[in-house]
Amino acid sequence: MPKTIKGVGCPYCGSSCDDIEVVVSDDETKILEVHNACIIGTNLFHHANDPTRPRLPRKRQPDGSMKEIPYEEAIDWMAKTMLAAKKPLIYGFGSTNCEGMSAVARIAEKSGAVLDNCATICHGPSFLAIFDNGYPSCTLGEAKNRADVVVFWGCNPMHAHPRHTSRYSIFPRGYFTQKGQMQRTVLSIDPRETDTAKLADHHLMLDQGHDYELFDAFRTVLRGFDIPDVVAGIPKEKIKQSVEIMKNAKFCMIFFGMGCTHTDGRNHNIDAAISLTRDLNNHTKCSIMAMRGHYNIAGPGQVWSWQFGFPYCIDLSKGSHAHMNPGETSSVDLAMRDEVDCFVNVGTDAGAHFPIQAVQHLKKHPFITIDPNFCMASEIADLHIPVRIAGVDEPGVVYRMDNVPIQFRAVIKGLPGVPSDEELFDRVYERMCELTNTQPVWLAAKEHRKYPQNPAVS
Ligand code: SF4
Repeated sequence: MPKTIKGVGCPYCGSSCDDIEVVVSDDETKILEVHNACIIGTNLFHHANDPTRPRLPRKRQPDGSMKEIPYEEAIDWMAKTMLAAKKPLIYGFGSTNCEGMSAVARIAEKSGAVLDNCATICHGPSFLAIFDNGYPSCTLGEAKNRADVVVFWGCNPMHAHPRHTSRYSIFPRGYFTQKGQMQRTVLSIDPRETDTAKLADHHLMLDQGHDYELFDAFRTVLRGFDIPDVVAGIPKEKIKQSVEIMKNAKFCMIFFGMGCTHTDGRNHNIDAAISLTRDLNNHTKCSIMAMRGHYNIAGPGQVWSWQFGFPYCIDLSKGSHAHMNPGETSSVDLAMRDEVDCFVNVGTDAGAHFPIQAVQHLKKHPFITIDPNFCMASEIADLHIPVRIAGVDEPGVVYRMDNVPIQFRAVIKGLPGVPSDEELFDRVYERMCELTNTQPVWLAAKEHRKYPQNPAVS
């Protein structure tokens, strides 16, 4: 008899929807139906049924082909490779659970690695701005229940976070927003007429790369000063009208995305956005939020800040203390300067999403991919180790884009013999300890872990 599981989390985008319902086969090995998820989330769950999912690690052979090998051999190779490297780079973690992020830290410390996550090519500039200027933010529940003016600046949730507008930002009827969309004024600030812009009441189609000027103009108007007739391609009257709307809101919510972090100015755009939010708080209540991309990309920021004091670009190669300096210790910069001699790709696809020159540098050295699926990074790797899919066949904690932790559950049984990221990292760490004749450092919680410790390590 098929079973319906409710309250399931979707492991795809930063909306981290936790109201998904999944119908699974009676033996709990197949996903039959997915309800409530958007098309991306639905596809992700169904993909878990794919009979061609890898079940064994694959290692590149001298003739260039990939050959399946047992997990023990893959773990041994990875442990030896990490220990031999002077400065390995461990990168990714947008798509795994916090348990995996925590477990990898011991490998990173033991190998003197640089530990980095996808923020480095995504909302890293937002972190830099937050360090400089603070983060007057809130939870998505606040936005749902209170926001009567919603600004999407350089983001397109209709494509990137498909249920964001229906769960949190435009359509839901909240405690103080009982009329839902009717009660909200939506502004879209984007050089393109995106599907989000089509939904908005006002679309400011600015010149691409001129966000900083426009933020400045908003602040200048808000402070009662004059601005040129046109700023960033937007007429003065339109800017004044938008500022009036934001100023007269009961609760103004600014969501921003790659349109701000990937364009000229980068972190300075976010600096200006945060300053605008501050200024608006002299008139009304205003909050700002980064549209974090992956369902748990806020996770490494939380877990590693707790472990090392830094959210990303963490250089542990000194052996005595962690050091963070994006530009110096960020993945793409390290790769472009050819400063790392081993690359570990975890829960992401650097093969597809890094600049090609960076990939070419990384490919000169051992390249290890840890991922449940075949992807660009697995196909160019020297070693590909399959793991379970967090949120589908492995449970765990994830942090939503507003840094609210959610316990995701497993809905089907994992593939036999395929470990979770956490288990894999623990086994690699144990092997590193064996090879160096050192005692593993375990957290107390490890004594209660779900799988048995390697009996070879007491
Ligand atoms: S909006 Fe994002 S988290 Fe929600 S179902 Fe779609 S992909 Fe999944």
